[in-house]
Amino acid sequence: MHLSALLDSAVRSAGDKEAVVYREQRWTYREFAGAARRAATVLREAGVRPGDRVAVMTYNTPAFLFAAFGAWYAGATLVPVNHKLQTAEVERQLRHCGARLGIVDAEIGKRATAADVVVPWLVSHPDADADTRPADSFESRVAHAEPWTGEAGPDSDIAQILYTSGTSGNPKGCVHTHRGIALAATYTAATVPLHRDERFLICMPIWHASPLNNWTMSNLLLRATVVLQREYDPRGMLETIQRERVTALFAAPIALIAPLQTVADFPDFDLTSMRAWIYGGGPLDADTARRLMKAYGSDDFHQVYGMSEMGPVGTSLSPAEQVAKAGSIGRGGMPGVDLRVVRPEGTDAGPGETGEIWLRSDTRMAGYLDDEAATAEVFVGDWYRTGDLGRIDEDGFVTVVDRMKDVIITGGENVASQEVEGALRGHPDILDVAVVGRPHPQWGETVVAVVVPREGTEPDLAELRTWLESRIARYKIPRELVLRRELPRTPSGKITKHVLRARLDEQEGPAGN
Ligand code: ATP
Ligand code: MG
Repeated sequence: MHLSALLDSAVRSAGDKEAVVYREQRWTYREFAGAARRAATVLREAGVRPGDRVAVMTYNTPAFLFAAFGAWYAGATLVPVNHKLQTAEVERQLRHCGARLGIVDAEIGKRATAADVVVPWLVSHPDADADTRPADSFESRVAHAEPWTGEAGPDSDIAQILYTSGTSGNPKGCVHTHRGIALAATYTAATVPLHRDERFLICMPIWHASPLNNWTMSNLLLRATVVLQREYDPRGMLETIQRERVTALFAAPIALIAPLQTVADFPDFDLTSMRAWIYGGGPLDADTARRLMKAYGSDDFHQVYGMSEMGPVGTSLSPAEQVAKAGSIGRGGMPGVDLRVVRPEGTDAGPGETGEIWLRSDTRMAGYLDDEAATAEVFVGDWYRTGDLGRIDEDGFVTVVDRMKDVIITGGENVASQEVEGALRGHPDILDVAVVGRPHPQWGETVVAVVVPREGTEPDLAELRTWLESRIARYKIPRELVLRRELPRTPSGKITKHVLRARLDEQEGPAGN
């Protein structure tokens, strides 16, 4: 079904139920759909036509949702834009997708307006005084428009162009239909499972694949309540859970760990309303999983694995498996999703083996925007090649070993960069670390550790090598050490190793000692 028709059906069956909560403001399903239909009128009157692209670059605000559903009612395509991008990056993305119009948070407005590609409409900060609010803001236009009365288009229409995180190169635009996203939301809801009475906290950036399509869309589809936290902060997350009696949330592992480390009165918060702590983007080790369960007083931890290209959907690790199968992403696909682990020659890998993770689901993107070659590379029939390497254990559980692009081949041996990073991360002098390959005439590549030392320490290569000897095989041990003050990352916190490699290449000869 078309996403705007799904919202209409929520109004018919649960019109008076709370749909969206933001600070002190609340919208029922009827009010929310009304605002979205008025937003559609605003867009149409500004010249947006079916098939046009509307870029939205905001914090987690109701304006994002009004603009998204407004675009869908108007038959247009939503392009969620990472609110941390700088001007040149915004410009590249908007040129790439040919957005006609942008809806932009006033706080970040300059970065987008300078991009000179779209006519941005500003969204005001909720704390701004009346006289500093942008004149003619998006919200004030919406408040004064008549509701759009048009009918929804077919669900084969393009709903979104969703950009990947850009961890391994420039972000790619994944083209998704209404039907694909509705299914991704349905499969996700069935996986946890989520309920109609959920009060779900969106505290990770709403423009990102999982917070938007897995968690915001699934809860709206269920006629549950979406609670928006403008921007993640550890205390704010606890306060919102307590104030709004939140029942479930999704966060990156680091966002669940941070409150324990930074909020001194953590134990005083009442978190008893919570029944599902969902995390993704990376695993939790057994010790951390145990520590979090104890601190949050709950065993209901769920992990999800997926990617922008798939909706996103993928796999899940249920509460019962959190400790016993820690580090794993689960066994097989989530409901509606098929998984294979595939050897280089294309046959299925067995227990104890490593291969590429392939996924199949009708949530899959139609393709990368304007890039047939890249699309052809990742599609094999109905399957999507994730580019992630997975190892299967004797019970069929899969663990992500590394991204294939990050595997280092040295002297004919494959070294998973993430395995070496994991071993180094336990060293007391190491605050942060990335392991990459550097071209080498004899070995093909050598293993290089790029380390951010803890303040006041200066780890050296010989010492680290001795420390690693009892932990990983000799050929995996780094031959070079480079000390850095910080590592390049995507806005969602993933290390951009292509940037790191390029910087190493710029250096003369072997670095470090
Ligand atoms: P790009 O494709 O531009 O390099 P990206 O792959 O980081 O960026 P996303 O689609 O946001 O962009 O992220 C999906 C990737 O994140 C997966 O392919 C996988 O490598 C990683 N990932 C997601 N969830 C998990 C998880 N639970 N455990 C381990 N890795 C995960
Ligand atoms: Mg990717």
